[in-house]
Amino acid sequence: MSRLDSHLEAALERVTRAGRRRELRATALLPQGRVERAGRTLIDFSSNDYLGLARHPLLVERSAEWAARDGAGSGASRLVTGTSAAHLALEARIAAFKHCEAALIFASGWQANAAVIPALLAAIPGIAVFTDRLIHASMHAGIAMAGARQHRFHHNDLDHLETLLAEKGADAPARLILTESVFSMDGDRVDIARLTEIAERHDAALFVDEAHATGVLGPEGRGLSALVPGKVDLVMGTFSKALGGFGAYVAGSRVLIDYLVNAASGFIFTTAPPPAVLGAVDAALDLIPGMDAERAHLAALGERLRGGLTRLGLDHGASSTQIVPAVIGAEEDAMALSARLEDAGFLASAIRPPTVPPGTSRLRIALRATHEEGDIDALLAAIESLR
Ligand SMILES: *Cc1c(COP(=O)(O)O)cnc(C)c1O
Repeated sequence: MSRLDSHLEAALERVTRAGRRRELRATALLPQGRVERAGRTLIDFSSNDYLGLARHPLLVERSAEWAARDGAGSGASRLVTGTSAAHLALEARIAAFKHCEAALIFASGWQANAAVIPALLAAIPGIAVFTDRLIHASMHAGIAMAGARQHRFHHNDLDHLETLLAEKGADAPARLILTESVFSMDGDRVDIARLTEIAERHDAALFVDEAHATGVLGPEGRGLSALVPGKVDLVMGTFSKALGGFGAYVAGSRVLIDYLVNAASGFIFTTAPPPAVLGAVDAALDLIPGMDAERAHLAALGERLRGGLTRLGLDHGASSTQIVPAVIGAEEDAMALSARLEDAGFLASAIRPPTVPPGTSRLRIALRATHEEGDIDALLAAIESLR
């Protein structure tokens, strides 16, 4: 019993009353797009292991090999003794993969955004920041840490972005647009060609979070930024989704990376990622460029699912990727459907306010290249009968 417990119990009680209490449940990621939970095997539509690499033998082996060779821990933060030859080699590989001058590894994507954004904003007092309404919580955390004001544009509405750029921050020392290439709740993409053209025309720098695109979209899975080489000033992505491992990267100019090494608190004051983590990423980078067949299969599964949802009269928004929302409407209905699907052997999370606008509660269906067409058809049949 801690002296804080009575306060915390009251706070938890408020969460419970709002119907928002959540809890952790032990789940094991299995091959073939399945998970095990409470002794049952479920078809998994909730993980971000889009290419099935989390259990790929090459990643598991190299992770074990590098740990056996170099140890379980890295010993210190990067600027002290935590930088190994493997860190530098991997950063050079990532820079090449993203067609950038340099790259830097972070412990996680959340940490990268929460560390890089305040460091950038601190370097340029008065910089004007333009953000898509739906950017990830980690980017909001970074902006909040910097105490910066943001000009928010409607989700993926580049006309609105242009209007804001024409009106705001003309006398700021610099302007920065922050967005994602694939949005995590809607599975829609930004029009990266038009976005870079707008950024150029308005002399604004561009920061693109490729968490859900890295490994899945763009030539050889290099992300959507690879469609516009050299035009995105700062690309961020994670190793924890399609790359099947853990950690994250930021890629950009040499000056940008040198600056972050000297200024990003969440990089400087944390222990370097250990050998096992680096080994898995190294193996994933061997595999990703050659996985066009898996990427095509994943895209086809997305088409099949969207076609089926349309036939059931369910809106899937602007999804064009491996993330497909099925908009149900009321919060209780989405929650109930998700629970009934789990009873029937399918894991598809319900996403509700405040993560999405009221009245648009949905199932967020995340596909994996290890799913088969039959898995999609079974899910659609279950949604039809359980709704
Ligand atoms: C998952 C995610 C992150 C965080 O990445 P982690 O490596 O899981 O911490 C950042 N941005 C977006 C858009 C994400 O979906």
